[in-house]
Formats: sequence, C-alpha cells, structure tokens
Amino acid sequence: MREFKTSSLSRRTVVLGMAAQAACLPFASFNAAMAAAPMLGLQRPAIYRFKLGEFEITNILDGFVVRPDPHKIFGQDQEKEAVEAFAREHHLPASQLENSYTVTLVNTGRELILFDTGNGEPRRSATQGLLRQRLSEAGYSPDQIDVVVITHGHPDHIGGLMESGKPSFPNARYVFGAAEFDYWSAGTDIPARRQKNRDLYMRVAAPLAEKASMIAQGESVVSGIEAVDAFGHSPGMLAFHIESEGQRLLLWADVTNHFVLSLMKPEWHVLFDHDKAKAVATRKRILDSVAADGIPAIGYHMPFPAVGFVERSGDSFRWVPASYQLNDL
Ligand SMILES: [Zn+2]
Repeated sequence: MREFKTSSLSRRTVVLGMAAQAACLPFASFNAAMAAAPMLGLQRPAIYRFKLGEFEITNILDGFVVRPDPHKIFGQDQEKEAVEAFAREHHLPASQLENSYTVTLVNTGRELILFDTGNGEPRRSATQGLLRQRLSEAGYSPDQIDVVVITHGHPDHIGGLMESGKPSFPNARYVFGAAEFDYWSAGTDIPARRQKNRDLYMRVAAPLAEKASMIAQGESVVSGIEAVDAFGHSPGMLAFHIESEGQRLLLWADVTNHFVLSLMKPEWHVLFDHDKAKAVATRKRILDSVAADGIPAIGYHMPFPAVGFVERSGDSFRWVPASYQLNDL
C-alpha cells in the first residue's frame, strides 16, 4: 500500500516534469519523444566473468541453435511421448529445444587459456560462431590467448580453431586429448554421420599438432588445471578440474548436454554420444562426483552462463544454475 502511494506521487511528479520539459522542446523533438519505441529484437547476456581463487574465469556464449523434436536427440531409447511429457513437466516446449554453446576463458594470472573455440567460420550465422566478436567485447584479443585446450573433436568445439585458413589464435600453443587426437587422425571407426566432422578435424585441428601437447587424464594443462577422463560422448573427451587457492570447479565439456533431458535422466541415450553405454556411465560418475563435492561445474551446453551446481535428487540429479555464489561479494 505504502509503495502504491509513493509511486502515484512520483508518477504525478514525472508527468508534470515531462509537460514542463515538452514546453521547452522544439516541435520535431517533441514528436520523436512521443513516438512508440521500436522493437529491438534479440538481446541476451553473452559474457559472464567470475573469480575462482586467484583465477579469473570468463564464460562467453558462442551462440545457440534451435532444433525440432527433442526426442530425436535426447532419450532416443525412450518413448517419444515420455520425453515430451518430461519436457513439459519441466516447463519446456515439447516440440523443440534450444542448445547453446559456451566457451570458457581462464586467466591464471600468468596465462590466458581458452577451452574450446565455438562453431567458428564453418557454421557462422546470426546466432552462432560469435566467439571472435564476443572475445573483444569481453576485453580480449585473439593474439592474447596463450593456450587453446580442446576437450574433444566435435564441430561446435573445434570450428573456431582456424579463420580464413589461418590459426585464429596466432600466439597460442594447443592442448589436445591424446586418445581423441589419435581417434580422429587414424580415421578408422568413424560412423557415417561423423565423416564431415572427421574432414573438419583434419582441416582445422590436425595441422596444429606440431604446436600441441597431447595429454591423458591425470595430466596438467598448467598448474591447477588437470584433465579428467570423460570418454563416451566422444572416444577420448576430457573434462578439466580447475583449482586455485583451494577453490575448485569442474569443466565437464559435453558430459551432459541438456540440463533437463539428459542431466536429470543420465541413463537416457543421446544421439551425439559415440559410445552410448560408456557415455551413460561417465555421465553418472561425473555428476555424482560434482554433487558429492558440492563444487561448481561449467557445462558447454548448459543454459548461459553455463555455470552451476548439481544436486542429487533421489536416484537422479538436478541442475542448480549459479546466481551470485561466484560473484565477488
Ligand atoms: Zn558440444
């Protein structure tokens, strides 16, 4: 009630003030001021920066895609109706979904480390492949990147490695998962739907091998950033445990690719998972460890800003997006 009175009073003051101001304005300006404001279209947050110990972490939205028929991707081994009902139950449309791509930049104070490169030139559109543009909005230039870490070889992660046939990050060294690199390079056991992906890998990632270290789980990118086995979604995908001053975070790449239709149903099969059974086992193991440790996680396909927590919920899990827990309070 008190609030209502206050706003009535202030509205009257504002109206009087506007009338007084209008009296002083030339006719044309007065018309412009009274015109309906135009609709401005899409506007979404795309950059989020926070601290983890002494590290500064910036999540940058490379973009998003809208896809029809969620059941074709998530819960392939379930009834279509069950997947659609589960989506509706969680306030999501049943007939389409949005998947976003979030790249992570870690400034350790000594080195600037980029995790994955977005869709890049091959898939650039109004809504994706935007890392390059947003890197500068976030305050960085491509030549400042010291290390590029590739979690795995899918197009939405490696597409930004090259720009116009040249390395996008001219001063960077690279870190690739050894098993993942071997898989794509060997070129055997590539399913038909990944042939184009293999061509892309050979075009944009393989040529960088001479400037790359090939690492396995348990090995470090730099002090405080260690690779974790996340095989399954792709043959050699790596997650990364990041720690500074006793604060910890897990960057899980594509361990789970939808905050409801996969994270809450980790056993559901996912179109994009290379080895379905192994991907399910990895998903459960990593979600379980993040929930048990109570540490934040960054997921490449979680809703922006793609950082949050995992809670156990019965024999399943729940994604709790970070609000202000990671802000400098
Ligand atoms: Zn992905």
